[in-house]
Amino acid sequence: MTTILDGKKVSITIQDELAEEVRKRNLIGKKKPHLAAILVGDDGASITYVDAKVKACERIGFESTLIKLPEITTEKELITEIQKLNNNISIDGFIVQLPLPNHINEQKIIQTIDPKKDVDGFHPQNVGRMALGLPTFLPATPNGILEILKRYKVNTVGKHCVVIGRSHIVGSPMSILMSQNYYPGNSTVTITHSRTNNLKEICLLADIIIIALGKAEFLTADMVKEGVVIIDVGINRVTDETKKKGYRLVGDVKFDEVAKKSSFITPVPGGVGPMTISSLLMNTMNATKLNNH
Ligand code: NDP
Repeated sequence: MTTILDGKKVSITIQDELAEEVRKRNLIGKKKPHLAAILVGDDGASITYVDAKVKACERIGFESTLIKLPEITTEKELITEIQKLNNNISIDGFIVQLPLPNHINEQKIIQTIDPKKDVDGFHPQNVGRMALGLPTFLPATPNGILEILKRYKVNTVGKHCVVIGRSHIVGSPMSILMSQNYYPGNSTVTITHSRTNNLKEICLLADIIIIALGKAEFLTADMVKEGVVIIDVGINRVTDETKKKGYRLVGDVKFDEVAKKSSFITPVPGGVGPMTISSLLMNTMNATKLNNH
């Protein structure tokens, strides 16, 4: 039997829990968590993601601030905006939506963010703490994946987990977290990337596959074994004239055929995406507590 890991449903539950926490904090005079987001340029997907984050804040009673900057913003101007947020005591946490325009050095920008407000968990200090298993802000997407595995009680202990993709925001932290000595984790992890030679053979040995590469319907049924757990991170637009927008979203997994062989599988949309947002909100609540608000 296949269980759909319903990220939308779990995400609503998490957001209800956070809304209740905000309500209780209000009753005792504590401030609302406040998340800010900086968006540079007018990349369509980035605007959609940031809007979804702002709307989620409004729904659960967080304050939110959206700072929209033009594509031509210089690195120096962006750093100035970040420093303002670092110094603004009303802001508990903030994100700089990636990707940034090519003329801006992403790592330099990430390193300007105060690690105590880095609710995306991308600052090297927070990445280091994550690698050491110390309390920190876990990056939103990997944290959301751990949360959905936990809420569906998916067994990860001693399982062979294959991570496809090694980006700093998904694949690499995911491989660290799945191998750590706590649940969900304690898996034996293989991390793969574009230079991996025998990906199909490796995938056929996997009990859990976490795929984040950004290639529509890349993982097919012949690449997985019966009973596999599939976490599909990919979000890809494919042309579809039957849709008003002219496209639809698909993951990195050929869902219909792979689902038939899976014990658990996340859909796209409605799987990892909503979990990423809820995870960011959880980090913001933690930042609020950390900053003693
Ligand atoms: P990146 O482009 O940064 O990384 C892609 C990774 O896939 C790279 O490590 C690359 O290897 C690897 N790769 C490419 N081709 C192959 C191949 N043929 N075989 C094995 N590995 C391969 O992507 P991201 O991690 O940022 O994002 C991946 C996907 O997840 C995208 O679709 C993105 O939109 C989506 N995403 C979804 C989120 C959500 O909330 N659901 C959040 C973040 C991302 P190499 O390093 O060698 O180049």
